[in-house]
Amino acid sequence: MVNNNMILGNKLFQDSFFKAYEKEFLQLAQKGQTPKALYIGCSDSRVLPNLITQSAPGDLFVIRNVGNFVAPYKPDEDFHSTASAIEYAVTILKVESIIVCGHTNCGAIEAIHKKSCANNPELVHSKTWLTLGESAKVQAILALGLNADKETLYRLTEKLSVVSQLENLFTYPSVKKRVDSGEITIHGWVYNIECGEIEYYDPEISQFVHLSSINVEEEES
Ligand SMILES: [Zn+2]
Repeated sequence: MVNNNMILGNKLFQDSFFKAYEKEFLQLAQKGQTPKALYIGCSDSRVLPNLITQSAPGDLFVIRNVGNFVAPYKPDEDFHSTASAIEYAVTILKVESIIVCGHTNCGAIEAIHKKSCANNPELVHSKTWLTLGESAKVQAILALGLNADKETLYRLTEKLSVVSQLENLFTYPSVKKRVDSGEITIHGWVYNIECGEIEYYDPEISQFVHLSSINVEEEES
């Protein structure tokens, strides 16, 4: 719903941020977008991809859905919003990296554990969609036990789900082909809502590590 704050907000945006970057916005309008990265994150209102990475307009091609899930490749004629955006980013925009970003205190992950959508006919699509995090839930329970502290269980499930979605990305032939050839790199992140920090998944050691531990100058050289 558009409220007064949004109307004033757009005016403020035009007068300040847009004005400051007017040249860049016009270039993007005329030349089109050439984002380097595809970001797949949660729809959660507290996790803002451009804000948490301080990315500029044109930098990130963004997919957001409930739980930052990637449904496995399924080339039928149904309506696959996330799959369509992945195809476009990889095949047309030719992004160089794909980031799946989960986050702490994710409502989707909590809902999977609590079976919140089980018997509600108004959540029929959510019930199906949330099954994409089911294997992460099972792995977390197996690792920590049924009597584990709930928050600890949810934090682990959030991480395991990101790894699971990375695996699903590989079911897309267009993604797998480009990862194998080195054209695309794949990354799993978890954003911490309470401190603003990002951890990334290091497949070499099967651990999440603070993103700040990467030497930026070393990476860019
Ligand atoms: Zn979430």
